[in-house]
Amino acid sequence: MILVVGAGPAGSLSATLLGKENDVAIAEEHQSAGFPVQCAGLISDDCFKKYSNYCKISRAVENEINGAFFFSPSGNFFEAEGKAFVIERKILDEMLFVKASEFAEVFVKTKVKFKGEIAIIGSKEVRPDFIIGADGVYSEVARSFGFERPDFYSAIQVEAKFEAMDENFVEIYLGKCYSEFFAYAIPIADTAKIGVIAKRNVSQYLRNLIEKHPSVSKRIKGSVLELNSGLIPADLVDFVKGKVALIGDSAGMVKPYSGGGLFYLLVAAEKLAENFPNLENYKKAFLKELGKEIGMGKKVRNVYNLQDEELEAIVSALKNFEFSDLHMDRPSMLLSPKNVFRILKTLFSNPSLVKLALKVLKG
Ligand SMILES: Cc1cc2nc3c(=O)[nH]c(=O)nc-3n(C[C@H](O)[C@H](O)[C@H](O)COP(=O)(O)OP(=O)(O)OC[C@H]3O[C@@H](n4cnc5c(N)ncnc54)[C@H](O)[C@@H]3O)c2cc1C
Repeated sequence: MILVVGAGPAGSLSATLLGKENDVAIAEEHQSAGFPVQCAGLISDDCFKKYSNYCKISRAVENEINGAFFFSPSGNFFEAEGKAFVIERKILDEMLFVKASEFAEVFVKTKVKFKGEIAIIGSKEVRPDFIIGADGVYSEVARSFGFERPDFYSAIQVEAKFEAMDENFVEIYLGKCYSEFFAYAIPIADTAKIGVIAKRNVSQYLRNLIEKHPSVSKRIKGSVLELNSGLIPADLVDFVKGKVALIGDSAGMVKPYSGGGLFYLLVAAEKLAENFPNLENYKKAFLKELGKEIGMGKKVRNVYNLQDEELEAIVSALKNFEFSDLHMDRPSMLLSPKNVFRILKTLFSNPSLVKLALKVLKG
């Protein structure tokens, strides 16, 4: 029997795909999947299409996105186009869990614990042949089986009435006053999910964003409607050990520059099922598909280390760059032959940018 621990999207997708040909049980500590919500629900067009193979994802759509505005600390910004969707995580998680229940034995309100290789599932004690740790950032599976743990960022998100610059554009805010990572607003009708991701002091950063940001502070209307917070793993860790595999947040499978995990975990669930029972091949296949993107993503993340005046210079220089078809999940596509030519042209027309580009690449 394969035991999948956790019924977030990573667990439900794994149980569905493995359950087609194997004896699978999935256990979730809460009464239902997708609770509590700790996600902004922003996914790329490509990711949306992949999820539609497993559920009626259009039912979960809250907004369609056509691109993003990237703000410097002083409120200057540049624009990049790229299609994406905002989805309601609770609905997505529930649909995926219902699908998993067609292929796996389901346990809810059941927090799995381990005594050596024995899994305690409620009042039952079983010795699974394989264990899939899809149990999120606090992973009991990872701790019980001695996996290395990643570093974490904290994230805080509120929902508030908001005058978006464009209701189909996400807004990203850079600058040391608002985070040492980044802050965002994701519009939905006349409100927005407004959040900060940072190593520490997220509440203070969020207050700074809402009260002091030259653009955001003027466009937040009224008080906060909803608040949630959570942890985001910073980096991928080794995720296979003998008959135990981690997937999703438990393994640190998130984009290094955004903390978004929904695309990577879906790719991982597919690679796990394709390669099962060879878990080492699961690892190799995942890294073959996304290793290059993760490496490139870490370089993109170095932008957040720049000083405010350096961010100002970059945002100014990119104002007329005309990014189109920005792929949220695959930063390597920035280096398509067409883009490389334009990037080089922009760099050489702003010699100070060459130094900054090298700084970002070196880390
Ligand atoms: C504020 C915030 C905003 C985010 N925004 C985005 C975004 O816009 N786009 C994006 O792609 N990603 C986003 N993410 C990241 C995304 O939410 C995660 O990558 C994703 O939820 C990971 O899914 P998962 O299935 O691995 O883990 P989870 O969704 O955390 O699911 C783990 C499940 O395991 C269960 N569990 C834990 N321990 C046990 C146990 N011992 N026994 C039984 N069950 C257990 C939990 O109850 C939970 O249901 C965001 C995260 C945060 C915090």
